[in-house]
Amino acid sequence: MVIAESETMKSQSHVAVLASPGMGHIIPLFELAKRLVVHHGIHVSFLNITTEASAAQNQLLHSPTLPPNLKVIDLPLADISALVTEDTLVVARLCINVQESLKPLKSILIDLGKPQALIVDLFSTQAFDICNELSIPTYTFFTASTAFLAFSLYLPTLDCEVECEFVDLPEPVQIPGCTPIRTEDLLDQVRNRKIDEYNWVLYHFSRLTMVTGIFLNSWEDFEPASLRAIREHPLYKQINTPPVHPVGPLIKEDEPLTESGAECVAWLDKQPMDSVLFVTLGSGGTLTTAQLTELAWGLELSQQRFILVARKPTDGNTSGTFFNVGGDVNDPKAYLPEGFLERTKGVGLVVQSWAPQVAVLRHQSTGAFLSHCGWNSTLESITHGVPMIAWPLYAEQRMNATMLMEEVGVAVKPMVGKVKDVVERVEIERVVRMIMEGEEGKAMRCKARELKHSAVKGLNFGGSSKESLSRVVKEWKCDKI
Ligand code: UDP
Repeated sequence: MVIAESETMKSQSHVAVLASPGMGHIIPLFELAKRLVVHHGIHVSFLNITTEASAAQNQLLHSPTLPPNLKVIDLPLADISALVTEDTLVVARLCINVQESLKPLKSILIDLGKPQALIVDLFSTQAFDICNELSIPTYTFFTASTAFLAFSLYLPTLDCEVECEFVDLPEPVQIPGCTPIRTEDLLDQVRNRKIDEYNWVLYHFSRLTMVTGIFLNSWEDFEPASLRAIREHPLYKQINTPPVHPVGPLIKEDEPLTESGAECVAWLDKQPMDSVLFVTLGSGGTLTTAQLTELAWGLELSQQRFILVARKPTDGNTSGTFFNVGGDVNDPKAYLPEGFLERTKGVGLVVQSWAPQVAVLRHQSTGAFLSHCGWNSTLESITHGVPMIAWPLYAEQRMNATMLMEEVGVAVKPMVGKVKDVVERVEIERVVRMIMEGEEGKAMRCKARELKHSAVKGLNFGGSSKESLSRVVKEWKCDKI
């Protein structure tokens, strides 16, 4: 079947897109794929890693409403059972999954008639070697911030220059041309250089310069200093950084609503404008039992309206649902404080596992977002002019949270209590009231709305992101002639 389809692709530019596991990778790459099909007339084969696919992933990629020239190609299931254990950390597990799942990639690309380009995200760089053999140009779609791209490109140099653990450095880490990163904001994967996860991250980051171009899910006006550094600073030239193309913010657009998703939107329809705080922690984020209890109490004490995506707590793992989000059948009653659901009835709506985030953020009743500051969530919030309570949990989210608070001015971060190492209920009550009712909240909302206009301008006809993508597409189309 794949071969028959490749015949029809001969007359049309055809690229393949490959996303690493995890909704934070799949969602933006799928949006890029849709944009290439719908706005640029490209035929796209979206390569889907099916091993350990979550319910949310299956629902998104097997939706019946995809544009005709977007084909989802399921890669065969890989058996990774002998290579991972319960204790394998999330990024290492993801990387092992990719490595095993990509074994048939060469024959799949040949069956597809050798697409003109392959676009991959950060954790699937093994594909570069296969594409090299087949003379297929590769691109990266970087699904995090420009500041994090600068860090990623610089990591191999840092690895050679620094002997101790980065977290033990006496000063923030100086990234050429960019805001220094406080050691406490460094991502978990680089906090201990002896673990497998560090080696995986270093492996993938050091291959980023192998591509023909890097697409960024950001826009020219949003992170100008980091972008300028990557384009102009001698360090990035010396390591042969390929051209970077900011084409964002590419965020999920319309999504088919599940029954519970439709209930969320119907509930929001009945609430006053800007009155609801939306609480969800990305695809993987989970809290400890003690922290979830404090969060629930904080929401209740604030007396503000809210939608809370309440996942089963996990003690000792902040990304507990990374591989199985959307399939949760737990009853939140079992882990929320006794009587919480009854006492907050009418004021709050509790949802299991997954809410239609973009539909909620777009809704006029949504006034703020308590978020783990994953990059997609960040872009989705800003694109809808919604300020944030920053609750970073894993990956590069601490860096994002600091940037949103200190540079962009659209977020506030609650303080962790000194005694129990949790954010206590009174602190949560304070920041919720502040963002929903206070002057600081209003100022952040205004700033978020300014940024929303700047983001929309970039994507509109003649805007920098639209033009940036069009330039690369034009090159593919010229190559086809
Ligand atoms: N998301 C959603 N509903 C939820 C939680 C997350 O639709 O209840 C989507 C969200 O809109 C975003 C993605 O999942 O597009 C999460 O990506 P992000 O980069 O923010 O975080 P990650 O999941 O990679 O940590």
